[in-house]
Amino acid sequence: MATVELKNINKIYGGKVHAVKNANISIEDGEFVVLVGPSGCGKTTTLRMIAGLEDITEGDLFIDGVRMNDVPPKDRDIAMVFQNYALYPHMTVYDNMAFGLKIRKFPKEEIDERVQKAAKILDIEELLNRKPKELSGGQRQRVAVGRAIVREPKVFLFDEPLSNLDAKLRVQMRAELSALHNRLGKTMIYVTHDQVEAMTMADKIVVMRDGIIQQIGSPLHLYNNPANLFVAGFIGSPPMNFLSSTLSEENGRLVADEGDFKVMVPAEFESVLKEYVGKPVVFGIRPEDMEFDESGKGEIQATVDVVEPLGAEIHLYLSTGNNQIIVRTPPQHDFKVGEKVTFRPNLERAHFFDPE
Ligand code: ADP
Ligand code: MG
Repeated sequence: MATVELKNINKIYGGKVHAVKNANISIEDGEFVVLVGPSGCGKTTTLRMIAGLEDITEGDLFIDGVRMNDVPPKDRDIAMVFQNYALYPHMTVYDNMAFGLKIRKFPKEEIDERVQKAAKILDIEELLNRKPKELSGGQRQRVAVGRAIVREPKVFLFDEPLSNLDAKLRVQMRAELSALHNRLGKTMIYVTHDQVEAMTMADKIVVMRDGIIQQIGSPLHLYNNPANLFVAGFIGSPPMNFLSSTLSEENGRLVADEGDFKVMVPAEFESVLKEYVGKPVVFGIRPEDMEFDESGKGEIQATVDVVEPLGAEIHLYLSTGNNQIIVRTPPQHDFKVGEKVTFRPNLERAHFFDPE
């Protein structure tokens, strides 16, 4: 059982670098939480404060309701898997996995039992006598995870554990780590800069930027209801289209003018957006939320710049004059570069943001 709670946590390095600003995160027992954001946004710092490897400048950290700020790392019942695996090169896989237990003075039989069990879970029983240099990247990664599993910690922390693997292995290990989480049912906190990893693995995503939490929610919630321009642009690929617009009132309805085309603001947004009339807003629409209109009457009139046929779908890069737009569409039409096309945005799925 392990809940983890960060309350108004701040980290200031050397009195100068404010790396984490007022972070509040509540993690439930058994949850898989992913901290995601660009490099330098404070993910590793947050994880290291939870592990006790970094002092908390301000705020409180609770594990299972007990304040942990002053508890040394070894007494927190947490295991961390690092990006570079940090395996001891001169030790066998077995000894690498056993090491943490040996220094904690576990009896030999107990160590052996735990190492064998972890090796079985990770399917590395054949590798126990090898040295790290005799392993592939993926195998090393498994050993690093094995070293955490044998500790049977309350909480697992992962810092970009897949970033040194090639793309194919990364996808495979993603699935393996998810399966491991299902199997162990332990609380896991996972750091990555890769939004696809976050979307595919997380129960709950914490999006960070410049030390500040932007939004917390399930993958689908963030995808469908991004809180701001940053989250909207960070989650999803190809990214959401952002079009600078001005709102005006025409015949009693709100209209967003993108310069080269206009869209009606759906009734559900009207009350919120009324106060923005005459002001700039950003109209956001995801690439899949536009429908090809063969009749030529779609609001978005554009020229095809690039066609990327991917089999099941086509990515189109369009220009409307002032705006560049990416569209994901089923392969229902043989789009040609230079062709004039029209699309209809699904305005039920439109977003409106404050400009940055
Ligand atoms: P991330 O893991 O998201 O890439 P980090 O947590 O490593 O980000 O870093 C957050 C910020 O804190 C960055 O500006 C980084 O340069 C700074 N930082 C990290 N570690 C230290 C340190 N030991 N001393 C001073 N500044 C640091
Ligand atoms: Mg980092």
